[in-house]
Amino acid sequence: MSVMPQKPALKVVLCSPRGFCAGVVRAIDSVERALALYGPPVYVRHEIVHNRYVVDGLRAKGAIFVEHLSEVPDTSAPVIFSAHGVPRAVPEEATRRRLFALDATCPLVTKVHREAEIHYRRGREIVLIGHAGHPEVIGTIGQLPAGSINLIETLADAARFEPRDASRLAYVTQTTLSVHDTAEIVELLKRRFPQIVGPHKDDICYATTNRQEAVKRVAPAVDAMIVVGSPNSSNSQRLKEVAKRAGCPRAMLVQRAAEIDWDEFSGVARLGITAGASAPEVLVEEIIDAFAQRYAVSVETISATEEGMFFPLPRALRETQAAE
Ligand code: SF4
Repeated sequence: MSVMPQKPALKVVLCSPRGFCAGVVRAIDSVERALALYGPPVYVRHEIVHNRYVVDGLRAKGAIFVEHLSEVPDTSAPVIFSAHGVPRAVPEEATRRRLFALDATCPLVTKVHREAEIHYRRGREIVLIGHAGHPEVIGTIGQLPAGSINLIETLADAARFEPRDASRLAYVTQTTLSVHDTAEIVELLKRRFPQIVGPHKDDICYATTNRQEAVKRVAPAVDAMIVVGSPNSSNSQRLKEVAKRAGCPRAMLVQRAAEIDWDEFSGVARLGITAGASAPEVLVEEIIDAFAQRYAVSVETISATEEGMFFPLPRALRETQAAE
């Protein structure tokens, strides 16, 4: 009689909170709701959230993803703006073309847009702390006339920055930054320009803060950390960096179980798992299942905080809902 070789033991430590935030749920629900109400196609400008699995799922239901409104034909079908927000020129173009636009920008991103606008109206030069090229940064910069917002990505940028008038200066931040790195940049700006005005600390959202906090707690106690998320997801990338800084050198971003390089996990006895704000829980489960095929897995959850945030759907979808 042959004896099955015993699987090695693996302790999986799940970070909580992880995965979907309220802004992502609202954005995905907006597309689902628009598809249910109006039928396909529903156009979506940019990936509704930065996750290939989510985007492919919505595409299969009839969503058409475009990068520019110019790719949308003249149509009565809804056109939805992604959770990351859009430059002002985009809704303006939609209005001009009489498109049926629905804005799924996360309310916490819209809040940053409004802050920037208020600073501008008060005659302040604005610094945006964020990553060049990210759609949220493009959207925030695009709220105001060109040249009104200076982008600062690093401490070195903050050290070099020369405002027009240091007594009339303000800052806002991207919502999905590293809490640690941003605090350093804000501190330097405040030291150099004591009159700079801004939010209490930064504009990093609750979901980004909480997911980083959970990773900080788990990272020192595990041999490796998987961040379930897409490479273009800013908050997922930050979770990987936070894990490394908190003492877990083997931190990696994984989109699907099929991507796992099993050699990387040889000798790992304790594995941390988290997920970026745009990664669905079903992918976390898929990855745990893949480990359970090879290891005798036991699962523990370490929680940094409870979340109860909820954002209602965009008004047009809510009202139609109520009228049914
Ligand atoms: S990560 Fe934060 S800002 Fe981005 S959609 Fe989620 S709640 Fe909104």
